[in-house]
Amino acid sequence: MAKGSIKVSVENIFPLIKKFLYSDHEIFLRELISNATDATLKLKHLSQVGETKSEYGNPIIEVKVDKDNKKIHIIDQGIGMSAEEVEKYINQVAFSGAEEFVEKYKDKVPDSGIIGHFGLGFYSAFMVAEKVEIITKSHVEEVPAVRWTCDGSPEFTLEENDKKERGTEIILHIAEDSTEFLEENRISELLTKYNKFMPIPIKFGTKQEALPKPEDAPEDYKTEYKEVDNIINNPNPAWTKNPTDLKDEDYQSFYRELYPMQFEEPLFHIHLNVDYPFNLTGILYFPKLNHNLQVQKDKIQLYQNQVFVTDNVEGIVPDFLTMLRGVIDSPDIPLNVSRSYLQADGNVKKISNYISKKVADKLLSIYKNQKEDYIKKWNDIKIVIEYGMISDDKFNEKAGKFALYPTVKDEYFLLDEFIEKVKPLQTDKDDNVMLLYASDKDAQHSYIEEAQGKGYEVLLLDSPLVPHLIQKIEMSNEKVQFVRVDSDSIENLIKKEENRVSVLSEDEEKQLKESVEKVVPKEKFTVQLEALDSDSTPIKIVQPEFMRRMKEQSQVGGGGMFGMGNLPEMYNLVINSNHQFAKDVLAKADDSQKESLIKQAVDLAKLSQNLLKGEELTSFVKRSFELIK
Ligand code: ADP
Repeated sequence: MAKGSIKVSVENIFPLIKKFLYSDHEIFLRELISNATDATLKLKHLSQVGETKSEYGNPIIEVKVDKDNKKIHIIDQGIGMSAEEVEKYINQVAFSGAEEFVEKYKDKVPDSGIIGHFGLGFYSAFMVAEKVEIITKSHVEEVPAVRWTCDGSPEFTLEENDKKERGTEIILHIAEDSTEFLEENRISELLTKYNKFMPIPIKFGTKQEALPKPEDAPEDYKTEYKEVDNIINNPNPAWTKNPTDLKDEDYQSFYRELYPMQFEEPLFHIHLNVDYPFNLTGILYFPKLNHNLQVQKDKIQLYQNQVFVTDNVEGIVPDFLTMLRGVIDSPDIPLNVSRSYLQADGNVKKISNYISKKVADKLLSIYKNQKEDYIKKWNDIKIVIEYGMISDDKFNEKAGKFALYPTVKDEYFLLDEFIEKVKPLQTDKDDNVMLLYASDKDAQHSYIEEAQGKGYEVLLLDSPLVPHLIQKIEMSNEKVQFVRVDSDSIENLIKKEENRVSVLSEDEEKQLKESVEKVVPKEKFTVQLEALDSDSTPIKIVQPEFMRRMKEQSQVGGGGMFGMGNLPEMYNLVINSNHQFAKDVLAKADDSQKESLIKQAVDLAKLSQNLLKGEELTSFVKRSFELIK
């Protein structure tokens, strides 16, 4: 038996490895299975180019847990190693890799997520094992098998072994503090998390499989079973295939494979496939989202060559697309670096831009080719697209061709189309095209009806991002303005070149205004007299667009309106001085009669803004009953 000492400058790197990767101990299994996979794929390559005499066959990787003896075995049928190769690849390469890793990170706080994902390889075994054995037989037939052991100190042993089959068996003698990994359930969980789509079949235990019923089976035939390998992975996941070979059903069943607990069908899928200037494949799905931007559980998963890395794709996938689901696989994303580095990395930026562009292109093609379906699903996907338009200028440019604006009549337009349509009637005296919108068809019903009475179109914009979105649109379209139907009187929403005159004298107006101000609290309502059409509403409550928008923007976050969300609600109370109501109030001789008339009218205005509640509502109802007695 040969003994030797591994040359490392960091005296004992194992305690350090343990310390730095504490939260990530479980990755040892992924690392070892990755090595086993690489070894198998290397052999496949040699066999394809005729450089091995070994028969490739149908190799698998086996994971065995031996709880009684506190051991885990990882067995592959790959390329194997000679004694010299163990010296070189394990004692030198693997060790220097581990050493370099520790040198680099010993003074740094590990970045949750990325550091520790890659770069340690074989030596991550020592995070959970007090002793590691390698028994390996090279694919070159005459080369004898060897057994290597190491207990975590820089000393190792290397001796010949009588292993007959080609490949490598790693045996972990599990340390006292890591016995959780001797539980089958735990290993099963890890295999599902990290290795579900690895390219070589992975066996973990056996299972019973029903034998086919024989043709001459008797009446009382009892199904017979045989024991078969329990293969835990799908070595050929959908994203590795050619999009032209896949049908809609294949994408849907892959979605189910990814998220077994998701019962809702995805709305659309996007197959990503690029090999220049970087390598990236994947499938993204638009899930049915609900409106409150809740933190979602089933996230996009990042893989490297079919090995699961993380489901925290922040920085790699554009922010707005983190709401999607699916898989991204790229060997070109550097992972043993911190997140801030990752975000600054040019290649990663390119990947992120590519994904954004590809999603935009796909949305456009769905809109063009499956318009009806796209329109039907618009309300479920709009939040992602609107978020993209607000946060990603390139995406925003493209979105002009597929972002939809529904009207309250349930018709869908592109912005340009809609502007063209309403231009003739909805251009104001300063040449601005005024786009009227509602956020709630029921609550703003009377305002919508009034606008429609004038022949105006009203959009229905009800997602929480709308205040930010319309701000952005207004900034890039100088002559376009959005205004909510209940933010002013209809005459003022779209101001035309009309000289409106009041039938009241200045004195009467002053009197009327004062009477109303006496009745309504002035910290909540600003009373405003307007010479509107005589058949227009006598009195109405509106909330100025600007005020409301600032408030809304600060509620969704952003916009720099710190604390605006806490502003009290302020409204304008618009009195139509040309309506008979104004004259009636003025005509009342005594103050209490005036007051009750105004109160009744204000309450009606409140009622149509859904503002009449509690005690006010009760006394309104009482007063109204009195009136009809
Ligand atoms: P990496 O895989 O990143 O090169 P590792 O520390 O995981 O680093 O492994 C070092 C080397 O040891 C590998 O490059 C490979 O040559 C060899 N090796 C590790 N595991 C196996 C295995 N199961 N079969 C054959 N060779 C292996």
